[in-house]
Amino acid sequence: MARNDILGHPLSIEFIIYKTDPKGCGVNVIRGFFLLDKYRFFALINKIFMIDYHVHPYYSIDAEGTVEEYCIRAIEIGMEELCFTPHFDIDPERKELDDKVKLKDKIVTMKSNWIEKYIEDVELARKRYSLEIKIGIEVGYDSNIENELRNILKTYPFDFVLGAIHNIDHISISDKKECGQYFKNKSPEEVCGSYFTLMENAIKSGLFDVIAHFDIYKKYGWEYYGEGLAKSQKPYLRSILTLVAENEVGIEVNTSGLRKPVNEIYPAEDILELAKKLGVKIVTIGSDAHKVEDLGKGLKKAEELIEKTGFEIYRYRGRKPYR
Ligand SMILES: [Zn+2]
Ligand SMILES: [Zn+2]
Repeated sequence: MARNDILGHPLSIEFIIYKTDPKGCGVNVIRGFFLLDKYRFFALINKIFMIDYHVHPYYSIDAEGTVEEYCIRAIEIGMEELCFTPHFDIDPERKELDDKVKLKDKIVTMKSNWIEKYIEDVELARKRYSLEIKIGIEVGYDSNIENELRNILKTYPFDFVLGAIHNIDHISISDKKECGQYFKNKSPEEVCGSYFTLMENAIKSGLFDVIAHFDIYKKYGWEYYGEGLAKSQKPYLRSILTLVAENEVGIEVNTSGLRKPVNEIYPAEDILELAKKLGVKIVTIGSDAHKVEDLGKGLKKAEELIEKTGFEIYRYRGRKPYR
């Protein structure tokens, strides 16, 4: 019997079991469905097939929730796989603002040994939970740090590397407090021009598996510029999406915009449609949760959009895409 038949069957019974970890550290969770259909018995355990490939554990200064807390939540909500993607931002021009990572009760720098601890935490969680857990990272791109990023990405056994353009001219356009500093002096044409030039360089750098939140400029730019912003992006889309396809990079379908005033998934549907036409193959899916309660939020909507636009969701292991 297929998974969906079990889930949708009126006689299927859902269960969640919490049990103390035998080593006395933490709690383990099992979630599933039983179904006794005529004379056959079916069980679905921890396989409800939701995946989330953009999750920020507490190391990121703007995030909360340990690897373990996210894993427990993932099983509770029927998730099969999650990929953690803590922030990695090393633009020297933004050192004062970005060079901070939480490690236990301390604040350390981006280039200190917190990634080792992060990997250790994931490895422990892999042993403890029946959940597929991937080691990812969300890297803030800027053209002046390419070589340094290349070395760091080679150093660790990442499964998945998201490339993100959060800043233009070293000013964050995805931060509510900071974005006005950039937007106030720029037309929407200038915002899109500079943003897509950075994205073009990010794709050509070969550093990234997938581009995060493709049209993130609309997060706050939408309130700032209104309709003008959607028009201004148009001249860039065809060439940038062709470049995405040629370089076999993926696009992330990110639901965090649904939790912002813009109330839209990144990227918008018309961008995904054009991406499909131009030969983009890979999409990943992510909630961009910065706290445990946001894990998996909006993913059903994202799955519908992915299906509607004719894509299939990819996963990554050791930087290699698979379905
Ligand atoms: Zn981001
Ligand atoms: Zn993120």
